[in-house]
Amino acid sequence: MEKRTLITGGAGFLGSHLSEKLVREGHDVICLDNFFTGTKRNVAHLQGKANFELMRHDVTFPLYVEVDRIYNLACPASPIHYQRDPVQTTKTSVHGAINMLGLAKRVKARILQASTSEVYGDPEVHPQPEGYWGRVNTIGPRACYDEGKRCAETLFFDYWRQHQLEIKVMRIFNTYGPRMHPNDGRVVSNFIVQALRGDSITIYGTGAQTRSFCYVDDLIDGMVRLMNSPADFTGPVNIGNPGEFTMLELAEKVLSLTGSRSKLVFEPLPQDDPKQRQPDISLAKQALDWQPKVSLEDGLKETIRYFRDLLGSQ
Ligand code: NAD
Ligand code: UDP
Ligand code: UDP
Repeated sequence: MEKRTLITGGAGFLGSHLSEKLVREGHDVICLDNFFTGTKRNVAHLQGKANFELMRHDVTFPLYVEVDRIYNLACPASPIHYQRDPVQTTKTSVHGAINMLGLAKRVKARILQASTSEVYGDPEVHPQPEGYWGRVNTIGPRACYDEGKRCAETLFFDYWRQHQLEIKVMRIFNTYGPRMHPNDGRVVSNFIVQALRGDSITIYGTGAQTRSFCYVDDLIDGMVRLMNSPADFTGPVNIGNPGEFTMLELAEKVLSLTGSRSKLVFEPLPQDDPKQRQPDISLAKQALDWQPKVSLEDGLKETIRYFRDLLGSQ
């Protein structure tokens, strides 16, 4: 059945892919964004469709609309962006969650929270299962994001316990693909843009730290499956690709796939940068019948194609 669906952060990287999929499936989509890191260009191809509406709004302010489902994605996701105005980042996560939960409560909508692997902080359990409580520095530069997202999870579960809301909490691990912002600062977009421009590839620290990268199509498939899962399944559930790579390995892959001759340069490791990260996706496999399908190599090829076109047209 077609649903009236609100997507906050809908003009961002993940939000634009989700908007596209839900519009294609015939849902009535309100794509809400304050354009802090998202752009109208990301959803320009959807403008003009009868079941798509773009709305400028900041989730830290109340919102009155009538919908059946809410995907709450609003929040800058890249360290350079969420650390630029850290107080606003916490407000977006916490006040934004309260407003969207208040809205969900009033209209009896089902609501999904885009949480993050950052709730695990710099983990001492590897890979990370949902039952692991995490290791976050509460006063470090990443805390505005990590603690904001942790508090949002708390709010979701309190609205579930107190008001019987239908909630879904998704812990997203590093995701990449077309429509990442070229100046986003995250590692995949940085390396690809640097390789295509022939600039030096900036490795922070020794490059021995690891991440697990999920291609955007797989991630959005998992997100929609979670939203459509039975009402009693709340999560939290990890969605990500368990393939784990060091940043040096990622740089080598990007260099070989682009054919670039860029040199590697080593820069200081940012404070509290997690040393390793890999999702345990047993729960997603069992509860959502979901697992990623796209290899890092295939996903990187698509992403490189996107950035080649983008940089070529600038
Ligand atoms: P993004 O920065 O591209 O998208 C976030 C969107 O939210 C942007 O369009 C931005 O303009 C908007 N936004 C920010 N503050 C807002 C506010 N106060 N009101 C309204 N809109 C606001 O990042 P993304 O990668 O698409 O991430 C989407 C969500 O997924 C975020 O909540 C992020 O924390 C989460 N997430 C992403 C990843 C990843 O690897 N991409 C990993 C973990 C979690
Ligand atoms: N809210 C909103 N839209 C709605 C309903 C509520 O933005 O349709 C906001 C409202 O401003 C409030 C928050 O959600 O600050 C939490 O609402 P709730 O009803 O849970 O709490 P209360 O209004 O009692 O503080
Ligand atoms: N990183 C890097 N060079 C860059 C950008 C990031 O080596 O140009 C490293 C960063 O220190 C981290 C990893 O890549 O160890 C992933 O960083 P990103 O900001 O993409 O995501 P997060 O740290 O939030 O997982």
